[in-house]
Amino acid sequence: MVREGHDVICVDNYFTGAKSNVAHLLGFSNFEILRFDVRDPLRLEVDEIYNLACPASPQHYQLQPVRTIETSVMGTVNLLRLARETGATFLQASTSEIYGDAQVQPQSETYYGHVNPIGPRSCYDEGKRCAETMCFDYHRQYGVRVKVVRIFNTYGPRLSPADGRVASNFILQALRDKPITIYGDGLQTRSLCYVDDMVGGLAAMMDSNDDVTGPINLGNPDEHTIREIADLIMSITESKSKITFGPVPEDDPQKRRPDISLAIEKLNWRPTVDLETGLARTIGYFRRQFSMDMPG
Ligand code: UDP
Repeated sequence: MVREGHDVICVDNYFTGAKSNVAHLLGFSNFEILRFDVRDPLRLEVDEIYNLACPASPQHYQLQPVRTIETSVMGTVNLLRLARETGATFLQASTSEIYGDAQVQPQSETYYGHVNPIGPRSCYDEGKRCAETMCFDYHRQYGVRVKVVRIFNTYGPRLSPADGRVASNFILQALRDKPITIYGDGLQTRSLCYVDDMVGGLAAMMDSNDDVTGPINLGNPDEHTIREIADLIMSITESKSKITFGPVPEDDPQKRRPDISLAIEKLNWRPTVDLETGLARTIGYFRRQFSMDMPG
């Protein structure tokens, strides 16, 4: 967006983000950064809002569950009010967690989900579900232009080494020849989408016609078991790590694969980076970034 000449205001409270991730943009006069928490009301002149606020890693969002649900609920209401005042188009980063431990495979947008409302993941799942509800209520009652995308597991360069999710955990463990920590038997599945593909999907959604409100799934339908992801990362890194099996996190979804027919039809979008290529790029990033404390 900066390259395309948009005026971009990046808002972050750095709960899970890092200034170093946007350091390369600081020299551009059309880029500004604001340390701010969207749980507080924000007044700005804007014409597009991408609401990506909220930690997305289970380890992070469960660390401070109240803050997590407040970020999705209060943050979304504050930004929807801003959209209403300014006439901005509002894009909500929703999530595959809307579907919970899904009982249908793959998940399409018509599935209402299977979510535990009081479990350790619910601060995230129910916060995001409430945020979706508010988007459609602001749309129906006040005519706010809303666009809701449900993002499936996304990975790539600039993931925090402390992120705690599967891609960065396994990559760091493999590069350091440390044990690969599979939770459970590793037969649970995820479908990982490379970050550049996801960014393209978000932009395509923002640029879509006003009648495209979503929700629309964005993700890569290429489904793998966690064990397969571990094996692939170990083979790309030529790691000497051993696999270990630990306890399964409570309410861990067993299967996850997006049905992206709607994204293909409405946005003419589909992912183009396959898992091996995306992982190789991400591994390259982690090697460069953290080469100091790695063997060899
Ligand atoms: N997982 C794992 N080892 C790890 C991190 C994650 O086995 O070090 C598993 C986790 O139990 C889940 C899947 O990988 O089944 C994806 O977990 P992640 O935290 O990346 O994201 P989620 O999709 O659960 O939000």
